[in-house]
Amino acid sequence: MSKKFYITTPIYYVNARPHIGHAYTTIACDAVARRQRMLGADTFFLTGTDEHGQKIERAAQAAGKTPQEFTDEVSAQFRALWKRMGITNDDFIRTTEDRHKRRVQELFRRLRDNGHIYKGTYTGQYCVFDELYVDAVGPGAPCPECGRPTETVKEENYFFKLSSFQNRLLQLYNERPDFIRPETRRNEVMSFVRSGLRDLSISRSTFSWGIPVPDDPKHVIYVWLDALANYITAIGYGSSHEGAREAFQKYWPADLQMIGKEIVRFHCVYWPAFLMAAELPVPKSIVAHGWLLFEESKMSKSRGNIVRTETILDVLGADALRYFLLREVVFGQDGSFSFDALVQRYNADLANGLGNLASRTLTMITRYFRGEVPYPSAVVSQRAGDGAVAESARRVIAECSVLFDQYQFSRALEVAWSLVAAVDKYIVDNEPWALGEKQDEESRSRLATILYTSAEALRIVTALAHPVIPDATARIWAQLGLGDIRKFPLSELKWGQLQLGAKLGNVEPVFPRADKSAAERMQSMEEQQRSGSSTIEAQPETTLPIAAPTAAAVPVEKPPASVPDGKISIDDFAKIELRVGQVRTAEKVKGADKLLRLEVDLGTEVRQVVAGIAESYAPESLIGRKVVIVANLAPRKLRGLESNGMIVAASPEGGKAVLAGFLEDVPVGTRLK
Ligand SMILES: [Zn+2]
Repeated sequence: MSKKFYITTPIYYVNARPHIGHAYTTIACDAVARRQRMLGADTFFLTGTDEHGQKIERAAQAAGKTPQEFTDEVSAQFRALWKRMGITNDDFIRTTEDRHKRRVQELFRRLRDNGHIYKGTYTGQYCVFDELYVDAVGPGAPCPECGRPTETVKEENYFFKLSSFQNRLLQLYNERPDFIRPETRRNEVMSFVRSGLRDLSISRSTFSWGIPVPDDPKHVIYVWLDALANYITAIGYGSSHEGAREAFQKYWPADLQMIGKEIVRFHCVYWPAFLMAAELPVPKSIVAHGWLLFEESKMSKSRGNIVRTETILDVLGADALRYFLLREVVFGQDGSFSFDALVQRYNADLANGLGNLASRTLTMITRYFRGEVPYPSAVVSQRAGDGAVAESARRVIAECSVLFDQYQFSRALEVAWSLVAAVDKYIVDNEPWALGEKQDEESRSRLATILYTSAEALRIVTALAHPVIPDATARIWAQLGLGDIRKFPLSELKWGQLQLGAKLGNVEPVFPRADKSAAERMQSMEEQQRSGSSTIEAQPETTLPIAAPTAAAVPVEKPPASVPDGKISIDDFAKIELRVGQVRTAEKVKGADKLLRLEVDLGTEVRQVVAGIAESYAPESLIGRKVVIVANLAPRKLRGLESNGMIVAASPEGGKAVLAGFLEDVPVGTRLK
């Protein structure tokens, strides 16, 4: 029997359409689920939508729809997006489905029969936004959670005896230090529980959009009890079908429940208490991630707005987004998103990193060995570099495995990419292209060893990265002639498994380089989308996993509507992308006295620029010098050479050009603004 692995995302509240925050949690879970499948675990991955409550009732009303129409629409958007992103969930539960409603009622009965529910009267301040009775005094008092005005509510409610679970919960946290991760969240929860628990109101009679309380349909079940129960109802809890009950026996308790840090209390206090009251095991582990903040981006006029995933999928694809979020954000801590950082990371790690390694290795095997994986030489003495790559690969496999198991995605990817860097250096040091020109046996044999070593390292990075960037790695795997990567048993990954003589598949690039306008393009797609926003987008922002930004809520001065003659607006200026570059190589252009051909490093790429400065500067004097480049100038041809950008220089009348530069040191790639 293989090990089982049950993993859940929170179910997403349908008061807002899906955005990058939802995508972040779902991607993290998908990467874990894919990895578990590759490790051979019988994996069940659940996600879904949370569709009841007063907020939904009101949002539907505002949109002129019935709650069911409204939730059907938004829930479908989530499902469509996950499908487009290649999310491999095994089930998608909606809390408005019959299977869920019946089973939640079953859970309610169980809690009541076990003596944990009683009826009482509640008067208090209620925050509609948070769906929460809060400790605030007086009508309209601000909610301590979100600052919005609260409503005074007095109603007859069913209460759950949460207070009687205080000691059992503390015992759980103490006995199982891994129950809540990371440590900071565990400490918060423990101090909250230690300070004393009050009984929890678990029904509402002031609105009707919810699951009726069994035998008392004036009340609907509190939205959090309803929502949390999805983790067990989806896999068959409370079902009368034998098959469903077997699935529940098999998969529960969950191995990993991933959540955002703002819903820790519900998942780490209420949820285990409900389960204990129902005499069910609690989940093995609840892991809370941080918030994704949106960095200030110069082109954005409406800072603080939520980024749609579709924009990124349209421009860079799902793998780019998945890689960026898991590589850039230290899991568990708050992270920051910006289109610039996304494009930079994409070009550096995917286009120039893994993508470039794959295409040059596979292209050389195609060119020099007719597309068959060459045999590494046993005859000609192998050099130290070959062994060092193999050694590095062994270490990377071991470290990645530990880091992924601890959900340290960023570190795991960093370690995996250290192998990409090691192989890049190995290839540069060994110059296989020079050996490829020679026909003698020793050169051929050496070339075979270098390309075998590179391809084998490529295979290993590809296998390790597959759960994070499934699409590109599946294609590289097929190009290596290895078939379906999903069938590869990851636990058996080791150096030396590449099939010698295997025929490569069709070699084609997997990560085309993003041009410098990609970030701006995504910005403007977002702005267009916002200006034509639908009723759904006009709803208040989500309470779910990743909250909207705080830092981003800075008001931005709009440019004046009309600009005086001869002036340009700040927006016009912002269209010119000036960046710090460093000259790598410089040489005279044949037949042109004034022109130099330069290769300029912009941090994310090296550009060829043809500049009219040959009369002012000797080529060798420019090497290593930092210059200012107009980076988004359309390419043009000068003397048959393509020039990608322009170097900024002062050009005195009748005098020699003087390059713009910096007195202090400044990193390559920095933008001038
Ligand atoms: Zn509130």
